[in-house]
Formats: sequence, structure tokens, C-alpha cells
Amino acid sequence: MSVPRYWREIPSRYRLIGSKCVNCGKTYFPPRRVCRECGSVSLEEVKLSEQGRIITWATVYDPPRGFEKYVPYIVAIVELDDGTRIMTQITDCEPDEIHVGTRVYAVFRKIREEGESGIIYYGYKFKPLK
Ligand SMILES: [Zn+2]
Repeated sequence: MSVPRYWREIPSRYRLIGSKCVNCGKTYFPPRRVCRECGSVSLEEVKLSEQGRIITWATVYDPPRGFEKYVPYIVAIVELDDGTRIMTQITDCEPDEIHVGTRVYAVFRKIREEGESGIIYYGYKFKPLK
């Protein structure tokens, strides 16, 4: 991911803002400019639910560049209470603590550091409700 793209995404990453299609109601995170369902370009910003449940998940042992020191970590598809499905990292738990349907909530965490530049990325991860 290039730095300029990261900076453009900062507002939504900090506030868990997605976009909602005015035409069909589908919501997206990260926000999109064009609806994948109906092709409409009328999308508006919406504040997304900060709680949801795990739809599916996987433990990552062979990560993309920049994530090597975090393995193993858990990546999941979470369906928020407003129906938005997002791909996110699950934090503060062991793989055997979660299953399909586990309730999770959003927490703001460091996502990764870039080795040479020292840039630290922050964003949302999700954590099981205990
Ligand atoms: Zn649409």
C-alpha cells in the first residue's frame, strides 16, 4: 500500500466510517465510490456499528510483507450489527477462543510498522466480547 493511499484512508480508519449506497442500501468498509451491487455512484458516508459477529476466520502463518513479526495472527470476516461485512484482524485472544458467531467489538490498535521508514499504521481491529 502506498503512503498517499494510506493518507487518503485515514479519516475512515480513525472513525470506522464506511459508505452506504443511496440507491440499494449496501454498506462498505473501507468506503467505496461505486456500489459493487448496483453500480450506483451515489454513496454517502455512514458511521458503522462497532460490534458484530465472526462469519469466518483463519489463522495467518505466512503473512504479506510488513506483517512478519505478528504471526500467527487471526484474520476474520466480521458482520457488523448494521449488516456491513468487513475483513479485519482479531486481537487479544487465542485462536481456540473464537468460533463462527463469536461477538466482537472494535478497538483502535497499531496495525503494523514499516521497517525502513519507521511509519506506524493505526487502525481498527476487533476483539471478542468476554
Ligand atoms: Zn447500490
